[in-house]
Amino acid sequence: ENHMIETDVVIVGAGPCGLFAVFELGLNDMKCHVVDILDKVGGQCAELYPEKPIYDIPALPVVSGQELTDRLMQQIEPFKPVFHLNQMVESLTKLDDGRWKMMTDAGTNLVAKVVVIAAGGGSFVPKKPPIKGIDAYEGASVFYSVRRMETFRDRTIVIAGGGDSALDWTLNLAPLAKKLTLVHRRDEFRAAPHSVAAMRELVAAGKVDLRIAQIAGLEGEGGQLSGIQLKDDKGETSVVQCDALLPFYGLTMKLGPVAQFGLNLHENLIPVDTEKFETSEPGVFAIGDINSYPGKLKLILSGFHEAALMAQQAFRIVHPDRKLRFQYTTSSSDLQQKLGVA
Ligand code: FAD
Repeated sequence: ENHMIETDVVIVGAGPCGLFAVFELGLNDMKCHVVDILDKVGGQCAELYPEKPIYDIPALPVVSGQELTDRLMQQIEPFKPVFHLNQMVESLTKLDDGRWKMMTDAGTNLVAKVVVIAAGGGSFVPKKPPIKGIDAYEGASVFYSVRRMETFRDRTIVIAGGGDSALDWTLNLAPLAKKLTLVHRRDEFRAAPHSVAAMRELVAAGKVDLRIAQIAGLEGEGGQLSGIQLKDDKGETSVVQCDALLPFYGLTMKLGPVAQFGLNLHENLIPVDTEKFETSEPGVFAIGDINSYPGKLKLILSGFHEAALMAQQAFRIVHPDRKLRFQYTTSSSDLQQKLGVA
């Protein structure tokens, strides 16, 4: 995907604030592309607490993290945002014509007049297992995510972990792999019960090998794994032959490349004004958990308000020749047409 995409606004981060920004920008006639390193939208709500209830979204007395995400997706649907998931925005540079160019780690080039950083606590990155020398194998035979399942066809795979990702990938890759071993430190899994049951069936049918043990070390050469040393709770060691290791030990948030965008930062947050939520670079805005200003509260509702005000200034940049009109969705037929309800 090495072509250039030109659009009005690029939003970095598909958390609740990035998603609602699509709505406010859309009402003001701006088309958005949204990039997120996760394979799904919803940011912290979808990744960290999809089933937990939120009680302080105005007019929704209780809503789960996933349901809030689903409702936001429904609300922004009329504006047809384009999502680039599984991709991290790695750089931000100003072009001679004043527009901004962003490159992702998947080779997507995006050019826009306005950039909205809605990066929350930063990008989600995999927690690395504490195994000595693992760095040398990363990207060659150790992978923390599956971008293409085909990469693993006919390979001898070890999956490590006991959560939903470990179980989901065990179920998805078992039919493709030459051999698949699931390694977890105890015989209990923090995953959806139906996935655990399906995994146990594969184990019973001899299609997956389950080992209750810790990974003690790696064997291999030049980035290519040949085996994994295991140690069980009795202290006994053994080696499982393999040519790929997929550790799924959960995700953590790191500011990541946003720190290199050339924006002023204060304690890993992006200072903004409270009129437009613009950063130190005109045309680059920051909303949601990533920004800071006097009195900031890291709440979803604050990010929604910030998105509305940001969109006003973004309009002046994207449509400098047009006059900004304040309108209510309740009574404006123009807005209702955009929402497809008129
Ligand atoms: P996030 O939700 O953090 O999303 C940011 C997204 O940006 C992430 O998906 C990340 O992968 C992506 N990203 C970052 N950098 C890059 C990059 N360079 N390239 C590509 N993608 C990138 N808030 C409330 O208001 N009420 C509550 O009851 C509540 N309960 C909570 C409970 C828990 C357990 C947690 C953890 C948080 C809770 N919060 C609550 C806080 C709320 O979830 C956050 O305020 C909200 O998610 C912030 O939204 P956001 O869109 O700013 O960022």
